[in-house]
Amino acid sequence: MKCPKCHAALKPAAVAGVEIDRCTACNGQWYDDGEVAKLVPLLAEIENAPGADLTRNLQHPQAAPPAHTLPCPRCQGTMRTFNYAYDSNIMLDRCDACRGIWLDAGECNAIIRHVRGNPKLNRMGEAIAKNIAEAHQRQDVIEKVVGWNNPIDDAQLLVGIFRALRGAA
Ligand SMILES: [Zn+2]
Ligand SMILES: [Zn+2]
Repeated sequence: MKCPKCHAALKPAAVAGVEIDRCTACNGQWYDDGEVAKLVPLLAEIENAPGADLTRNLQHPQAAPPAHTLPCPRCQGTMRTFNYAYDSNIMLDRCDACRGIWLDAGECNAIIRHVRGNPKLNRMGEAIAKNIAEAHQRQDVIEKVVGWNNPIDDAQLLVGIFRALRGAA
C-alpha cells in the first residue's frame, strides 16, 4: 500500500500487538476497520505506550477538516473526514467503503490523550446532563401544574406550585 498523503510505502508495524500499516516517510498510519477501536483502549492504559514513536511530529489536533479528501490506501475508496468521538476536534479520515481509518502522525497520541482525559470530561458531561434532566423535570412540573412554558427558575417553580396548590384548595 502507498501513503495517501505522501505516496511513500506503507510498512506493517506492530503496536501493542495490533498490526497496522505505517508510512515510512511521514509516519502516518493506516488502521483497518476496528483496529483503532481495539488499539486505543490498550494504549490509553499504558504509560509510555509502545506506540510512543508513532507520535513523532506531533501537532495540535486541527479543528478544521483538511481542504482535500484523501484516497483510501487499501481500496482507493473515498475517505471522509470525521471528528473522533464526535467532539474531540481530532479530525480523522475514514474510508466510506472499507471503514479503515487513516491517522496522520501525532493523531494517535492526540486520541490517547483525549481518551485518558475522558474520565473528567465524562463526569462533567454527566453533571451537565443531570442538571438539564432536572431542569426538564422542573419544567414538566410547571407545565403540568399551571400550564406554563416560561423559562425555568426556582422562584417560578415555587410560585407555580404555590398557585396550583392554592387553586386546588
Ligand atoms: Zn506518508
Ligand atoms: Zn477503503
